[in-house]
Amino acid sequence: MNPITQAIRIQTDRTNEMEHSTPLFLTSSFCYDNAEEMRAAFADETDDNIYSRFSNPSVQEFTDKMVALEGAEAGCSTASGMSAIFASFMALLKKGDHLLSCNSIFGSTHTMIKKYLPNYGIEYSYVSADHPDDWEAAIRPNTKMIYIETPTNPGLAIIDLEKLSKLAKKYNLILNVDNCFATPVCQRPIDFGAHLVIHSATKWIDGQGRVLGGVVVGKKELIEDIFAFCRSTGPAMSPFSAWVLSKSLETLDVRMERHAKNALHIATTLQHHPKISFLKYPFLPSHPQYEIAIKQMQNGGGIVCFNLVGGLESGRTFLNSLKMLSLTANLGDTRSIASHPASTTHAKLTEEERLATNITSGLIRISVGLEHVDDILADILQALEQC
Ligand SMILES: *Cc1c(COP(=O)(O)O)cnc(C)c1O
Repeated sequence: MNPITQAIRIQTDRTNEMEHSTPLFLTSSFCYDNAEEMRAAFADETDDNIYSRFSNPSVQEFTDKMVALEGAEAGCSTASGMSAIFASFMALLKKGDHLLSCNSIFGSTHTMIKKYLPNYGIEYSYVSADHPDDWEAAIRPNTKMIYIETPTNPGLAIIDLEKLSKLAKKYNLILNVDNCFATPVCQRPIDFGAHLVIHSATKWIDGQGRVLGGVVVGKKELIEDIFAFCRSTGPAMSPFSAWVLSKSLETLDVRMERHAKNALHIATTLQHHPKISFLKYPFLPSHPQYEIAIKQMQNGGGIVCFNLVGGLESGRTFLNSLKMLSLTANLGDTRSIASHPASTTHAKLTEEERLATNITSGLIRISVGLEHVDDILADILQALEQC
């Protein structure tokens, strides 16, 4: 079956009743009829569930759907996107290893790499998203993993998955891709040779800002190590969150199609606006990596970034002038969201540090929602008038 169908049709085994939708398994542990059944479950001789920190039917259903959508061999769901990233690092990297990443990555991921990995003797270094030819020279004898996002948050840089996977193969490295911004209905990194794919399910996967979740899918032998790490350290996804997320996946394809259609319309309309010095959207030919974007993505996704001519002050004015768009830290919601990294998520950095990661003072990130596109555009246009 097509993965889109699987995202709708995969269901956990039901027990006695035959509900059309899948029941929610809110239980911390599972029962056995007798000592022999219980022994067999603990000996891994059966697939029976034991305890919800290890496995749970609601969580398994969500994981199976993500595995199908990404074309992976196996998966492991976690409480949040950050715990999925952390588990992939801790399970697969050890003292003396080097992690190669990109300067344009999610803020908390950067903090995790910079502040915590060195405590465990794990080295790291970054390649600039603007210098795609630097990857090979940055590989060290002890490099074990390449970790990237594409498109990147918040700069919307696109990294060539095919090219990086060839490098990973040549040097026997694990290619680990945060696919949060694209989602599997827009981009499947495994098709281009990635070994692991990570999602913050909190974003487009849920798509309605209701729960936190994370998932990592990919090669079976790598997932087994990540699963073993999670089983012993406890970043388990809640069955309730999994049930919500599994339901969300049934509409992922249609939602993303509309998010991307709205985003492309907004990007096209705003690209030459006099208050905007540059605008980035992966599927606009003006995007510096447009050729790579159309090679590896089905659409441009739901995020549009632009820089206000008026810089930092205009960024604040823009946010203050919005009447409908939400000012909130999340993205990937039915409700359109505006954010201004220079005065919020990246306010602690110096101007120079921000520029090093392509965060200009007037940068605005719009997570385009599912409201009527005319209403989203009207709100942005009237706020631009005030800048
Ligand atoms: C939000 C986000 C994360 C972290 O996910 P949480 O679910 O908030 O832990 C990781 N990567 C990217 C690209 C994100 O946008």
